[in-house]
Amino acid sequence: MKKLRKPLVVANWKMNILPSKACQLAEEIKNRTNNTGIDIVIAPPYTHLALMSHLSSADFSLGAQNVHSEVSGAFTGSISVDMLKDLQVQYVILGHSERRESNINENIFLEKKIDNCLRGKLNIIYCCGESLEVRQRNEEKEFVISQLEDSFSKLKVWSPQQIVIAYEPIWAIGTGLTASAEQADVIHLCIRNWIADQFGDQSAHQTRILYGGSVKSSNAHELASKENIDGFLVGGASLNVEEFSVIAHAFNHII
Ligand code: PEP
Repeated sequence: MKKLRKPLVVANWKMNILPSKACQLAEEIKNRTNNTGIDIVIAPPYTHLALMSHLSSADFSLGAQNVHSEVSGAFTGSISVDMLKDLQVQYVILGHSERRESNINENIFLEKKIDNCLRGKLNIIYCCGESLEVRQRNEEKEFVISQLEDSFSKLKVWSPQQIVIAYEPIWAIGTGLTASAEQADVIHLCIRNWIADQFGDQSAHQTRILYGGSVKSSNAHELASKENIDGFLVGGASLNVEEFSVIAHAFNHII
């Protein structure tokens, strides 16, 4: 089946790789994923971004793993939207569960971060997803929708070019457990229906919804074949060129 949206595969390097090794890994990934017809984003730690900004091109972008909610000022240790833009960064991951877990205030600031990024023309990859306890209570749909409602309730205009959603069930992140392609597709459809209800069918149709949670070469193909899965957010496997390129190429025969 032909993909309705241009696939996007994002490498979340988390707190891995030394700056001195980052360009080589990114260049290898870029060479192996060239001409796949999909968008690739590498999101390294902040310290690597300036060294890597020359690598960004039409299908290959840099992403950051977080951004501050304020525009500038006395916020020691923080990074602003403008600073990222100045380094050719085009995407930022927001609301990753590892950040939501380590910082209880993360949820509160997401709305403002989103607003700031959209004003500053920095594309967002908004992460949502339920814990194992929520899934065991069969409340995953309600939970994910409540996360979206919390973060996007004040948004007036949805821009599918600027907003990417990443569904990442927490129980599948870094655990080796993966949501089945069917489980993921059900939630992706539910997210798309929510966007349609709030912002219209066209916004919903054009928005890319990524799956994240132990994506690897062995499961990428099946996940990629699902209608509502438009790409991946990849953690551990993005540090391995071979693995990551197989994952990216999973979309190749269906675009
Ligand atoms: C992630 O960090 O967003 C992620 C999905 O990690 P992993 O692929 O290692 O589960």
